[in-house]
Amino acid sequence: MKPSGTTLAGIEPADFVALDRNRLSNLYRAGLPSEVPEREAAVMEIVEASVLPDSTGRPSVEAPLHDSLSARFVVHTHPPIVNGMTCAVNGAHHSRHLFPDALWIDYTDPGYSLCMEVRREVEAYRGHRGYEPSVIFIGNHGVFVAGDEADQIAGTYSEIFACLEDVYQRAGVQREVKQGDAPPRESITRNEEIIRSAWSESPLHFAVSGHFSPAEGPITPDHIVYAGACPIRGKFSAEGITLFLSRHGYDPKIAVFEDAVFGLGESSTAAELALEVARDAALVVQFAGVFGGIEYMDDRARRFIEGWEVETYRRKQV
Ligand SMILES: [Zn+2]
Repeated sequence: MKPSGTTLAGIEPADFVALDRNRLSNLYRAGLPSEVPEREAAVMEIVEASVLPDSTGRPSVEAPLHDSLSARFVVHTHPPIVNGMTCAVNGAHHSRHLFPDALWIDYTDPGYSLCMEVRREVEAYRGHRGYEPSVIFIGNHGVFVAGDEADQIAGTYSEIFACLEDVYQRAGVQREVKQGDAPPRESITRNEEIIRSAWSESPLHFAVSGHFSPAEGPITPDHIVYAGACPIRGKFSAEGITLFLSRHGYDPKIAVFEDAVFGLGESSTAAELALEVARDAALVVQFAGVFGGIEYMDDRARRFIEGWEVETYRRKQV
C-alpha cells in the first residue's frame, strides 16, 4: 500500500507499506462499533496491526478496499478528466454507456463503508460475469484500476483518458481552467491586508493566482480535505470569516476576489495545495458540464469528511 500522505508521483518502491492480508481480513469478520468515529478508529487499528514488521508508514485508509480486489496491482486516482464524469449529475448513466465493462458505485463514505460496498458490488459483478471488474468508478470520488501486469494498468488508464478526452473535445470543452492574468502587485498586497485584518489566527500563508471560478460546493472527499467544501467570496471581513466559520466549522481555505483567487493555509505548502486543488475542482466542474452538470456532495456526506480523524491526520502529514 502507498503510505498515507505520500504522493503517487514521488513514491519509491521502498516506501510502500507491506500488509499481511490474512490479518487484514479480520476486518470483514469483526463486529465493529456502530458509531462512526469509534468504527473508523477500530478499522485503522486492524489495518495498522496488519503492517508487516519490517515495514514502516501508515497505510492509506483505502487499504482494505485495495485488498478487496484479487488483481496484483490496484491503482486508485482522482484525475479531473475522470471526475468530470464521476461528479456529474448523469455520471452513472454515461459511465454505463461509455464503459460498459466498468463497475459504477454511487458515492459512499470513504473508509469502511466504501470498502464493504465495493466488496458487495464486486461479488455481484463476479456472479454475473464470472470475473472481477478492472475499472471501478466511484461517484464524487475517483477511479480504481486493477490488473495483474503494470502495463495493463497503464493501458487501461490510457483507454479511459482517451475515451473521455474525446467526449470533451467533441463537446468543445477546454482542457485547462479558464484563468485570468496574475493580479498586479498592489492588488495582491491590498487583498492580503484585507485577509490579515479579518483573520484571527496566525501564521497565515498565501498562494495567489489570476481569477478563475472555483466550485461552489464540495465535489469529492479530497477536495474538501485540501481546499475546503466551498470558497469565501465577496466582502472579506472579520464578520464574514466568523459567519463562514460558524456555518462550516473551519476557516476558509480559498478566498475569491474580483481579479484573483487566494489559497490560505498554515504553511505555504498548504496554501499552494489548497489553490491547486481548487483549480482542479474548477476543471472538474468545467468537464462535468458535458454530463449534465456538476453534482455536489450533500451536507451529510460533507460533514462526514469534515469530521474525519483519518483525513485530519493526512492533512497534518502534508
Ligand atoms: Zn480516493
